Amino acid sequence: MLELAVGILDREKEWENNMKVLILGSGGREHALAWAVNRSEKVREVVCAPGNGGSGQIARCVPVDLGNVESMVSLAEAERPDLTIVGPELPLSLGVVDALQERGFRVFGPTRAAAMLESSKGFAKRFLQRHGIPTGNYAVCTSAAEVEKAIDFFHAPIVVKADGLAAGKGVIICPSRHAAIEAAHGLFSGKLLGTVEQQVLIEEFLEGDEISFLCLTDGKHVAPLAPAQDHKRIGEGDTGPNTGGMGVYSTDEMLDPAMKEWILRHIAVPSVYGMASEDAPFVGVLYIGLMMTARGPQVLEFNARFGDPETQAILMRMDSDLVEVLEACIDGRLAETTLRWNPGASACVVASSAGYPGSYTKGFPITGLEAAARVPGVEVFHSGSAVAGGQLVTAGGRVLGVTAAAASLEEALARAYQALAEIQFEGIYYRRDIGHRALRKRP
Ligand code: AMP
Repeated sequence: MLELAVGILDREKEWENNMKVLILGSGGREHALAWAVNRSEKVREVVCAPGNGGSGQIARCVPVDLGNVESMVSLAEAERPDLTIVGPELPLSLGVVDALQERGFRVFGPTRAAAMLESSKGFAKRFLQRHGIPTGNYAVCTSAAEVEKAIDFFHAPIVVKADGLAAGKGVIICPSRHAAIEAAHGLFSGKLLGTVEQQVLIEEFLEGDEISFLCLTDGKHVAPLAPAQDHKRIGEGDTGPNTGGMGVYSTDEMLDPAMKEWILRHIAVPSVYGMASEDAPFVGVLYIGLMMTARGPQVLEFNARFGDPETQAILMRMDSDLVEVLEACIDGRLAETTLRWNPGASACVVASSAGYPGSYTKGFPITGLEAAARVPGVEVFHSGSAVAGGQLVTAGGRVLGVTAAAASLEEALARAYQALAEIQFEGIYYRRDIGHRALRKRP
């Protein structure tokens, strides 16, 4: 009798540890997610859709259209995954989570209504104001005439933003009121981004250090991930145009415990409660972009998903089983789960194609990846690579995220740069000053 019971338990365990996980997305974030999911004892198979040259080495890649919900639903129906993780913002904003849940799939990510925190900056700003969560002054305008009226309430520099998703290109920092009006005209007419904006935000310019505060949430409880700091500008010393992110580092030192507690209590928890109270509970990763200003932390923006490249650095420090943690979010059990972190540091340095964030050429062979991977503590996550003629080639503006974990930030950075020195492709560019702000603050 006892033997029989043990047999049943073993079979249950076998079933539990036999999961197929589908990851939607094609960037470095999704490669890092595939790497972390692969390490879970619960997982038998990882499928990346569409994935890239790097994720294809550790998972099966299948084509999908991330801009088409039906394409993603058909894929899920064909693959029958036990868990789907949605990486990028576009499918979330289109409601892929709602569509998959309606068909009975288990999905990690917010519904379309909850993802509005990212997909409409006007919604996010009004939400912050409704719930008394600290953020800069703003005006949401639906015409150029409204912008001209609102602009008198702002001092230069003035921030002008597209309301909708713009892949990091929708923010213009204007040195004068005149320039702000011009920028708003450019957004409304479609000249600036190529898409006609229905709403434009005018914002107070906030000054300070930026911190990405990412939390897991099951809609009721909040568990912060390790803190991370991105480097958005293309040039060293934070100069030149904004990019999707040129590098990240993560150490616990970057956020003192009292400040972390303050952000949790006054920003993260009220945001999650606020969404629940508005019948749009947020389940997934709530990424809170903060500016640490002289008047305290202020919310710059929300993202409704894991950041890229923050995820690469953060997951390198996670000791918990990622799949267990994501399942706890889906099942509303986050309060029973403790996240375990490696106490050291990690850093991710992005190698990009010459010309990025402007136009660039694709298809250059990438070499030296084996030697780079032999540097202790290093993982090379691919952001934009593909396999052509049996060879890995560049296929995006951001190509690789060379990521290292170590006991200290200095060592993590040294390892990442040592690995980068092994890698070649034509026009390779990377910032050599990732982590400079943290290193400068050291005694
Ligand atoms: P967002 O997509 O809203 O995070 O904006 C992208 C980047 O623009 C941020 O990471 C900041 O560096 C900058 N930014 C956005 N809003 C402001 C603001 N109100 N004041 C100063 N910088 C801003």
